[in-house]
Amino acid sequence: MLLFTPGPTPVPQNVRNAMSDETMHHRTPEFEAIFEQTRKHLFNLFKSDEVVMLSSSGTGAMEAAVINLCHKTLLNVNSGKFGERFGKIAIAHGLGSVEIKNEWNTPVSVEAVVEAVKANSEIDAIAVQISESAGGLRHPVEELAKAVKKINPNIMIIADGITAVGVEKIDISNIDCLIAGSQKALMLPPGLSILGLSSLAIEKIGAGRGYYLNLASEIKNQKKNTTAYTAATTLIIGLLEVLKTIEKDGGIEKLYETTALRAKAVEASLEALGLHVYPAVPALSMTTIDDENASQIRKVLQEEFAVNVAGGQDHLNGKIFRINQMGLIPVYEMAWVVNSVELALAKLGHRVYDGTANKVFNEIYFKIGK
Ligand SMILES: *Cc1c(COP(=O)(O)O)cnc(C)c1O
Repeated sequence: MLLFTPGPTPVPQNVRNAMSDETMHHRTPEFEAIFEQTRKHLFNLFKSDEVVMLSSSGTGAMEAAVINLCHKTLLNVNSGKFGERFGKIAIAHGLGSVEIKNEWNTPVSVEAVVEAVKANSEIDAIAVQISESAGGLRHPVEELAKAVKKINPNIMIIADGITAVGVEKIDISNIDCLIAGSQKALMLPPGLSILGLSSLAIEKIGAGRGYYLNLASEIKNQKKNTTAYTAATTLIIGLLEVLKTIEKDGGIEKLYETTALRAKAVEASLEALGLHVYPAVPALSMTTIDDENASQIRKVLQEEFAVNVAGGQDHLNGKIFRINQMGLIPVYEMAWVVNSVELALAKLGHRVYDGTANKVFNEIYFKIGK
């Protein structure tokens, strides 16, 4: 079965092999050397002033960011489940909460964020997804961060890049905290999250807040290539292998280029089948199609063509399907996925098969005739 859900994503064979050795003790020079090397690679990927790894799924890093960087009121952008989660975290910790809510296909407007910030001087942090995975949309995070910093540079910008870090280049000039998670673009099993922090964020963190998620104690330890609590040794070994693999494969810039090209080719090939792309501004991390037959299409893809794509949650349950674009995806697998969608539509009697999907995909991906 081809796993094409936008998280979890498949773990490459060499990464699985790297993680299959005996468990290493985390308080050893041997592991500290691995930790140090991994940090170096992460600085290269995040381009931030500090990086911190946590043994938690992505939500742990979201919570760590909120409690350490927001001391008064959090403004969260809600165009889907993950954006909504930031607000729930703020409320759970007794922080003030202001939310800008939109339909799941609609990116937040920079003006709306600016207005909200101007209207409430208690807002000291903003949390937003770069790629909101619920509907596969891209928020204008860099633009909103720039506009907010012009009003007040001390407002912390928390950017959830769980389906963006490793997918596309992110301008972090105005971002104070950039979050990644292991099981999405980083091609690992779940259980590790990473935060890239600005020096302004480190200042605000001060002595830190919370206990397990106290970022001050993690920064202090991780600078010395160790962790406050037991490190997720196996996942960190896997992460180092992933980051080395990306490098061996031509580097991160090449991965960004390939991902963008593949996403474009998939989008065009599915549109050529008459399918409709759901988000107004699609993220590169996934291709999201809204279709009244989404459930049937997914079922045929899975049962007859061995392709596993994700559906939708909540009110989008049965209304969309999402095809992953994150990671080192072999092009022949993606070609099979778009071909399978065309076959499924034919099978369901929605469209006569004529090979359009693969034709369009190949023309764009391989630049045929260009
Ligand atoms: C998956 C995801 C999360 C949550 O991560 P968990 O690892 O499930 O805790 C947060 N934000 C985005 C954008 C995601 O895609």
